[in-house]
Amino acid sequence: MDFSEPDEAVQIKKALDDFIDREVAPLESEHPEFLGEDYERHIVDDDYYQVPEYREIRETIREKAVEAGFYGMGMPEEVGGGGVDVLTKAIVTEHLANRPPGFHSAIMGGAGGPTPILLAGDEAQREEYLEPLMAGEITTCFALTEPAHGSDPQYMDARAEKDGDEWVIDANKYWITNGPYADFAMVFARTSGEDGEYEGITCFLVDADAEGYSVEKVHRTMGLTPGGQCELRFDGVRVGEDKVLGEVDHGFQTAMNWIGGGRISIAANAVGSSQFLLDLAVDYARDRETFGKPIGHRQGISFQLADLATDIEQTRHLYRYAAWKMDNDERARKEESMAKLRGAQLNNQAADVAMQVHGGSGFMKDLPIERQYRTARVLRIFEGTDEIQKRTIARELI
Ligand SMILES: Cc1cc2nc3c(=O)[nH]c(=O)nc-3n(C[C@H](O)[C@H](O)[C@H](O)COP(=O)(O)OP(=O)(O)OC[C@H]3O[C@@H](n4cnc5c(N)ncnc54)[C@H](O)[C@@H]3O)c2cc1C
Repeated sequence: MDFSEPDEAVQIKKALDDFIDREVAPLESEHPEFLGEDYERHIVDDDYYQVPEYREIRETIREKAVEAGFYGMGMPEEVGGGGVDVLTKAIVTEHLANRPPGFHSAIMGGAGGPTPILLAGDEAQREEYLEPLMAGEITTCFALTEPAHGSDPQYMDARAEKDGDEWVIDANKYWITNGPYADFAMVFARTSGEDGEYEGITCFLVDADAEGYSVEKVHRTMGLTPGGQCELRFDGVRVGEDKVLGEVDHGFQTAMNWIGGGRISIAANAVGSSQFLLDLAVDYARDRETFGKPIGHRQGISFQLADLATDIEQTRHLYRYAAWKMDNDERARKEESMAKLRGAQLNNQAADVAMQVHGGSGFMKDLPIERQYRTARVLRIFEGTDEIQKRTIARELI
């Protein structure tokens, strides 16, 4: 059994550090109000993503990341990706999350970027959607959740009906990341069957300028969730048969396969940002003195750090094991869910420990801890809540 990181991951991490120092750090210095460690001091509310200048900076980083080959690195080489395996991509994701703040989705793709679900597309769809997506020229969004159905999307209210050669889509989708800015949406609607059935759901590629497509409320969120979440409406949107991704009635399974890899990325990201928080806390515990001694010499503090370090290591091995199974074509549904569940819990715990160790200074916006504290919370909700991960694990067991 070899626990060393694959050579490719080590090389990419090094190249990524160079890239950040060369291309991203100058932008950080130029725009501390958006990308610097203390950007939230400059922007009082959390709507910074809606500031055009912030988005332009992200787009600049994206273009440079495409040129450097980091963007879409997990996509196959035949579509212009880096062809790296799930484990390598996850290790790089962890590495990136160990650097503040959250611009990594602009480098590696993230919710609006290239997604394996589009590999289900035919040649024409690959040309029209996947190629410009890989080139960073356009972005997309994944529109599954609805006001009445989040954990149970197979009960969705969205409908698409055939009218001659066209499909007519009526749907209302909620909390769609990158929805406000996407050039096209991957929209899921029931095309046959009964509520609750996995079969009978189809995925459509819908251009944002299609008649009847509208961006409704852009939601304000807790913490840093780059991409902006919004409500999307599809009122009698007409699309041709060429806009069906994969097979009619089989869109749900395609979506679930994609979400699998996403869970590992979330876990890896959680481990990276938990490590960042632990490192901050350790440094602080070494320096901060009370009653004439560094607080790190007190068991009340050092044991918190020891427990956190242990949990980080445990979760790191869990996500790597899940990724390794996927790369070896083994069923990993249970392990992916375990990694996502533990990763999400870990990041919340890490933010809590870091804040406790820092005392009052952790609570102030001068340090990135309070932001991480708020940002960590969503990990327990999106891409399957804690409870839904447990449900999946239990179903694999029983
Ligand atoms: C920041 C953010 C970004 C998002 N981005 C996207 C996106 O890009 N695209 C998209 O389609 N969706 C997106 N979502 C939606 C997200 O996937 C859902 O919020 C999530 O799946 C949970 O659904 P829900 O919020 O409707 O909660 P519900 O399903 O209503 O669940 C409410 C509570 O009940 C629990 N629960 C539900 N069913 C069970 C059960 N059987 N057993 C035990 N407990 C249960 C849940 O765990 C939760 O605690 C995003 C959400 C957030 C917060």
